[in-house]
Amino acid sequence: MLLVAWSVAAQSSGIILAGEAIRRDDYGVIRFTERQIRNTSAATRDGFVRWAATSRGHELFRYFSTPEYRVIVTEDLNEPGIGRAPEPGILTLLASADHAKQKEYTLILNPTPWQIPVGWKPMPHEPSSTADFMAAAWAGEMLHIYLYSRGVMLPHHQRDDFQRSWIATANELGFPSMTHGESNDADDFDEDWRRTCGDRCSQRSRRLAPP
Ligand SMILES: [Zn+2]
Repeated sequence: MLLVAWSVAAQSSGIILAGEAIRRDDYGVIRFTERQIRNTSAATRDGFVRWAATSRGHELFRYFSTPEYRVIVTEDLNEPGIGRAPEPGILTLLASADHAKQKEYTLILNPTPWQIPVGWKPMPHEPSSTADFMAAAWAGEMLHIYLYSRGVMLPHHQRDDFQRSWIATANELGFPSMTHGESNDADDFDEDWRRTCGDRCSQRSRRLAPP
């Protein structure tokens, strides 16, 4: 009885993937549950592990693995970008200072397998696999969710703290050339998504060097 109660409580907070909280074992190693492995793509999980190994990722994983937060993560192959963290309602933003109150946020990832066309090459220092993109998506979107948890509404991209954290994490991930939230290309993939979805995340990527 006690065990059942504990396991229900364990699911009710933290970063929730496939309905279950992502956990580390006693040695600090991330252990996905069978259900998470069955119901999510390897790229999403690999991306998480890589993000959580960065210093900011490690910090944020700990920060959100408390009863105060619930981050519901879903995969959607129809999502136009690689990831999105919708702004929560105003009541959730206003509750940021009330640590007794649980706050819930949503993260949507798109782990559509990405293949480089024959003869082309990824740009140096940018993502080149689906897991790379998922690591970048976790990194960028969890920064948004962190700011929501501090009561900060959008826009975030122009903030120095956002860009500093993004650059530090992107460097650790091995993508120092990857930007988040700025794009000059009118026909940029993520720019379209920004216009249609209004969520303003642009992770410039998927650029290729021609054969
Ligand atoms: Zn963004």
